[in-house]
Formats: sequence, structure tokens, C-alpha cells
Amino acid sequence: MENFVEVLLTYKGLIVFVWLLLLFVLERTFPASALTKNSEGVEKYFPVRVWRNICLWFCNLLLSPLVVIPLTIWATTHLVGWRPAVLSGGIGIILDVILLDCFIYWWHRLNHEIPFLWRFHEIHHLDMNLDTTSALRFHFGEVILSAIMRVLVIVLFDIPLVSVIIFETILLVGTIFHHSNLRLDQRLEKALSMVIVTPSIHWVHHHALRSDTDSNYGSVFSFWDRVFSSKSLARRTLNMKIGVEGATDKSLPQLFLRPFVKRKD
Ligand SMILES: [Zn+2]
Repeated sequence: MENFVEVLLTYKGLIVFVWLLLLFVLERTFPASALTKNSEGVEKYFPVRVWRNICLWFCNLLLSPLVVIPLTIWATTHLVGWRPAVLSGGIGIILDVILLDCFIYWWHRLNHEIPFLWRFHEIHHLDMNLDTTSALRFHFGEVILSAIMRVLVIVLFDIPLVSVIIFETILLVGTIFHHSNLRLDQRLEKALSMVIVTPSIHWVHHHALRSDTDSNYGSVFSFWDRVFSSKSLARRTLNMKIGVEGATDKSLPQLFLRPFVKRKD
């Protein structure tokens, strides 16, 4: 079992890294929204905000073996143990993926509705443009709080580690995709958006207009916003202002400190 989990973790890392690299290159080759240009008019592949996002990501990568993985393994070895045999195997994994995505929907929604949680989640939204690296941009406080909340869900719903790892792989692949600036065929995107969250859905969530920011909370499946009445009627336009209404992006040290200090904007 331990070997199986190690194999799954290696595959997860590999799949996510290759997917990230592929979309990072593709969104710069076929961008939906125009790329940032320098003073000479040359497109910048690594503008400052991308470096900021990568720095925040590295911080979270360090936290993973220290906090996130130990907490998850602790949770999956302290399950309540009510799960009947019919809920194991393939059917169990599919149900776990749906259940965990529903949990992420509500956790994300609470991150917007509870001011204390928004202090941390706002760091993700302060990115004033979107691409694959936005999917990596989270304050370490949010990562720790999410890991703690997930422990409760895993223990209560008896979710095995295999399901958690499979869901996390799907979640990361989906999150990198729906933040990306990849130009997609409209018919393909429309068809995909019936089931999964696509860039056109998630970019509205990053619109610097509070009513849009507080909508479209889905991560993997797009139907939660329809089920729980939080779907925005707005459509993505490629020149829509991205960010937080009334605020601008900050320097890296300010982003780290911002949840803990009184804010001026
Ligand atoms: Zn959000």
C-alpha cells in the first residue's frame, strides 16, 4: 500500500508538472488575451507578476512536505471507519472526487464570504492578469487553513488516501487549465464548460468587480455554481479588468504580510 501511494504521488507530481509546462508554453504561443509588452513592444514571457507567483508557489512547495502531506496522511490513518464495502474501489473514488470537489466549492465560497478567510484568499485575487502561474499563487496561510479543513472532511467522510491523491491531481490539472490564458475554440470551450470549469468561467471570478468576484466558485465541475445559485451571468471579455475591485497588486513582502496588517486599500 505504501509503495502504491508513493507511485501515485510520483505520478501526481509528474502529471501536474508536465501539464503546467505544456500550458505555460501554449498560452504564450496562442494567447487569448494579449501578452504584456515591454517598452520596446516586445512581449514579456516572464513579467514581474509571474516571478511573484512563482515565489509564492515555492513557499507553498516547501510547506507541502512539512505540513500538507503529514496532515493528509494523519487524516487518512484516523478515519471514522463507517464506509461500507460497496463504496470502495472505482465507484468509491468517483464519489470521493465529486464529494471533495463539493467541499472545495464551499471552502472557496467561505473564503470569499468570511472576512478573516478573505484576508488570505485576497492574495490570490490581487494578481492583475491571469495565466497558469496564477493557479500557483496562494498565501501560505490559506494553504495551511485549507489543509486543516481538509483533515475534517477526510476523517468525517472516511476518504482513503488514494482518492485524495487522485482528486488533488485532477484539481491541480483543472486549476492550471481554468486560470490559463490559452486561446480555445469557442465551441470546444462551450462544450467543456457544461461539465468542467473553463477559463471563460473562471476569468469572470477574477473580474475586478466584487459581484463577479463573489460568483463562479467551482474548481473542477461547473455544475456546483448552478446547483447552489452562484453562477455569474456576466460573460468573459478579453479586456475585462482582472484583480480586486479598489485594490492593486503588491510587492512580494507586502503580499506575505498583508493578511496580518491593517489594509489601506
Ligand atoms: Zn476566489
